[in-house]
Amino acid sequence: TPTSLTLLGTGAMGAAFARTWLAAGHPVTVWNRTPARAEPLAALGATVAATAAEAVAASRLVVVCLLDDASVEKALSGLDLSGKDLVNLVTSTPGEARARAAWARERGARYLDAGIMAVPPMIGVPAAGGYVFYSGSAELFEEHRETLAVPVGTAYVGADAGFAALHDVALLSAMYGMFAGLTHAFALLRAESVPPTAAAPLLSGWLTAMTQSVRTTAEQLEGGDYTKDVVSNLAMQVAGTPTFLRTAEEQGVSPELLTPFFDLMGRRLAEGGGAEDLTGLVDLLRSA
Ligand code: NDP
Repeated sequence: TPTSLTLLGTGAMGAAFARTWLAAGHPVTVWNRTPARAEPLAALGATVAATAAEAVAASRLVVVCLLDDASVEKALSGLDLSGKDLVNLVTSTPGEARARAAWARERGARYLDAGIMAVPPMIGVPAAGGYVFYSGSAELFEEHRETLAVPVGTAYVGADAGFAALHDVALLSAMYGMFAGLTHAFALLRAESVPPTAAAPLLSGWLTAMTQSVRTTAEQLEGGDYTKDVVSNLAMQVAGTPTFLRTAEEQGVSPELLTPFFDLMGRRLAEGGGAEDLTGLVDLLRSA
């Protein structure tokens, strides 16, 4: 029989999770600070609790999908969590996740942290490819693996509760680098009225082809030899950077998204990394 569970927070993401569990036959108790936002789930079979305390008391498995760590503190402080299996879907830092894990253990709960690699429309749509990183109690994850896999895929990344957040933020950081590049590229093209929709397939095709570099960088980092299997050496790449800056200037586009990365490339070259790919830049980012 499907496991009963409690969900705290029926915002965009929480409601999407709740709908899939209800559709799969799980008894779900929900609570939301603004009750009107939980009401639509009642029509789908959810039990709407009047208070967070009442919701937590209703099930052993308690899933939290509030805004941030501060709202988790606010909603759960003072509640009886002993014997609970707490799954925290809220986006946090690795440090916040570790502190929240210790906090939950002190209150007698098992704890699993999470990083959601999906947006609400991907929940309940396996073909969309979304998933959630989980870290923390392996026992909790194993016991509730099937329930957790109902809304979206799962990937357990270790007993350290901070690892889900670490993976989540690392992947999203890579994504923001891509967004920065696309922002600059569209600005260049638009300066000459190249239709963005004509450029789109070219951009996505090129970015897809360039993802080969992820594997090469990883192997160079692990092997420690940044000159092995070099595709485009740093000296050549640095020699090309003025072309990018002059093109930006010619087209009337600010180079501000490119210059921080070009500065790092120049520093690594000055340190003698000219025969490497870009892998040595990873070393330059260590601040502690
Ligand atoms: P929403 O803004 O839609 O919902 C936020 C929820 O948090 C609501 O239930 C809100 O209640 C509640 N809340 C906010 N502050 C408090 C508080 N002080 N006390 C009690 N409840 C509070 O956000 P999402 O559902 O989209 O996001 C939820 C989590 O999922 C976040 O951590 C987000 O980072 C993460 N996430 C979201 C993604 C997305 O694309 N949406 C993608 C990946 C992760 P109320 O209705 O009363 O305001």
